[in-house]
Amino acid sequence: MDLYEYQARQLLEEHGIATPRAIFAQNSHEVAQAADDIGYPCVIKAQVKIGHRGQAGGVKLAKDRDEAIVNSEQILPMSIHGHKTSGVLVAEAKNILHEYYLSISLDRASRDFDVLATANGGTEVEQVAKEHPEAVKRLHIDALEDFDLAAAHKMAASIGFYHADVDQAATILLNMWRCFKDSDATLVEINPLAKIGDPDDESSKSLCALDAKISLDDNAAFRHDGWKRFVDPILPDPFESRARQHGLHYVHLRGEVGVIGNGAGLVMSSLDAVSDAGEDQGNGIKPANFLDIGGGASAETMGESLSIVLSDPQVESAFVNVYGGITSCEQVARGILLAAKDLVVTKPIVIRFDGNAAAEGLRILDEAGNPNLHVRASMEEAAATAVTLAAAAKEARR
Ligand code: GDP
Ligand code: MN
Repeated sequence: MDLYEYQARQLLEEHGIATPRAIFAQNSHEVAQAADDIGYPCVIKAQVKIGHRGQAGGVKLAKDRDEAIVNSEQILPMSIHGHKTSGVLVAEAKNILHEYYLSISLDRASRDFDVLATANGGTEVEQVAKEHPEAVKRLHIDALEDFDLAAAHKMAASIGFYHADVDQAATILLNMWRCFKDSDATLVEINPLAKIGDPDDESSKSLCALDAKISLDDNAAFRHDGWKRFVDPILPDPFESRARQHGLHYVHLRGEVGVIGNGAGLVMSSLDAVSDAGEDQGNGIKPANFLDIGGGASAETMGESLSIVLSDPQVESAFVNVYGGITSCEQVARGILLAAKDLVVTKPIVIRFDGNAAAEGLRILDEAGNPNLHVRASMEEAAATAVTLAAAAKEARR
């Protein structure tokens, strides 16, 4: 498993390697808050599991809040080399004095660990290796011997961290090794490892990781709780979550007519009837959701269902299609009125009842005298009415 930069930085921090303060954000509102918190200038960095982001326009400096927002609005919708951006990292911008490259990887051929290092960091190491092969040092860490501070110090000295503190470089190398080993990684790469600070103040200078790439060995996931904390953050649909809490089968779709019925088959047919009516009427209206209230639903269940569907801002009208079997149309009617009372219904609800207690249900609805309730005799007629009303409501708000 490859980690995002923000996750890799977190692992480095946990192993004592300094990284500039940074906050992960997924929309321009979060970016503005994060940037105000981090301070200016800050860097906005695309979070994708692929390198060369800088060259692709996925890393941008922002000097103030407006620039942070504008840059993030450019970066968030980006795909970099076919990878969709999952968010941005808003990071403290550092004054870079020098960029180094440092990586540890598993070397299956020599059955040990490769350390690649160059004082010409920043760009991709493959390019440096091509143009200045003498500038790239390749060293090894023995799998069976202990790699301690003394060994790290010797290695750092042989790499030659020009202009940087070798003690600090050695500590970073050792911490990188511990991070690699403890995390069961196959790659830990820091590029750039940057020397930052005020060029005129020696005591302000230090090394920190500005970018990190870490790959974890999937075979070791069981030793790390499956790396649950690194699983992609997929935001749950709030309507689906609410429906699940009430034991309802709900699927969020993209259209305008909220569909509620009893039994998966009937709800599926209702979705088709709405889609067909939208096509017939040529207004492009489609179902907004699938919601099955199941068998034997109470008035409360029906009320909750309608409340979920009507709270969806994309819903313009609702279509309730119930064939009473175990479910009584009378209970459903009471549920509709329950929801209508609590919600002060302003969106039209089209109802088609058949079967168990249909006549009783229709009588209850009729007595309520609510102008937003529309009763139709067949599924096709009801779907067509729901589509017409949705299109009219959408048009009216334009
Ligand atoms: P990559 O292109 O995907 O490897 O993304 P990096 O995170 O390595 O960023 C690319 C380049 O942007 C770096 O080599 C730096 O030159 C620059 N950069 C990244 N972070 C900072 C920062 O905090 N300050 C400054 N001045 N430049 C930065
Ligand atoms: Mn980089």
